[in-house]
Amino acid sequence: MAKCAFCDADFNTGPGDVLLVCPFCGTAQTTQGTKYKEHYMIRVHFDTTEAETTLLDWVSKQLGAPGDLGSVARFVKAEQIWYPFWVSRVDAQSTYSGSGRDANFYDEWPQKRGAYKRISFFLKPESGEFVRRHEIKIPGVQGLDEDVKNQPIPTKAKEYFSHAHAEEYDGKVLHSQMSEEQAKAAAKQMALEKQTALIMQEVSKIDTRQDKIDVGETFLVHVPVWELEYRYGNKKYKASVAASTGYVIESKYPRSAAFRAAGIGVGFILFLVGAGLLALATGVLGIQLLTGGGLVSGGLLVIMGLLFMYKGASRKEAKEKV
Ligand SMILES: [Zn+2]
Repeated sequence: MAKCAFCDADFNTGPGDVLLVCPFCGTAQTTQGTKYKEHYMIRVHFDTTEAETTLLDWVSKQLGAPGDLGSVARFVKAEQIWYPFWVSRVDAQSTYSGSGRDANFYDEWPQKRGAYKRISFFLKPESGEFVRRHEIKIPGVQGLDEDVKNQPIPTKAKEYFSHAHAEEYDGKVLHSQMSEEQAKAAAKQMALEKQTALIMQEVSKIDTRQDKIDVGETFLVHVPVWELEYRYGNKKYKASVAASTGYVIESKYPRSAAFRAAGIGVGFILFLVGAGLLALATGVLGIQLLTGGGLVSGGLLVIMGLLFMYKGASRKEAKEKV
């Protein structure tokens, strides 16, 4: 429980909540009662019915969805959840030196241009600089579904948080389990990792580096999501739809019986193809021992064979994860 420092109301909080939004007056505040001013939202553009229609439209177009899904599905739940995200603008400048891989080619085959008998790899010194501006988005609550976490957020369309607007659809505004300071520290770390990824594209080993990471404008933005649930046949399915863009974030949906049967069929064929490739590879490898060539192609066939067999075996499960 917490007491709002602005309207005196008592409201519920979870154990890890550190930046709270009062459900009665909408004021964002720290647990000590300091108002947090950089609090924004993305406006709702899809009401309950529009979100449901958009979802059914999307689901009906999915491969293998039953033809009567749009007319038969019945919604049993539609809840608007406002998820908190921390957004930071981070300016990063990294200079680095290290060694990159390069190669020398010797003895071109006379009958095969561009093919060499001998290739030697060596490390050669490289250095450079990356200057980037990153927009880092971090969810304010832990354990968020991956798709909800990675949904596109139109931050340019942000406006100041309006309690009245969140109340329009009985929205539930989640507190943030991350403070502004923690968010900034995490953003700095993530920007550094992005810079590292850039550098590692150029060198295979970093010898020295210098980074200047500036975490600039940071704000909290609440993003509205429709958490929907509908019934089709004797099963219930869950789906999340972005309330501002109508983007279908995540959805489980039924597959027609015919499609499932076909899926199992395809899986079986893949399995057979895999087994065939494996057999072929064994043959190639066998011949190779005699001739001493084509080891790569034999190995490749083995990998492809195993891959197909795996795809075939795992297909049924993947398609029926509802
Ligand atoms: Zn309040």
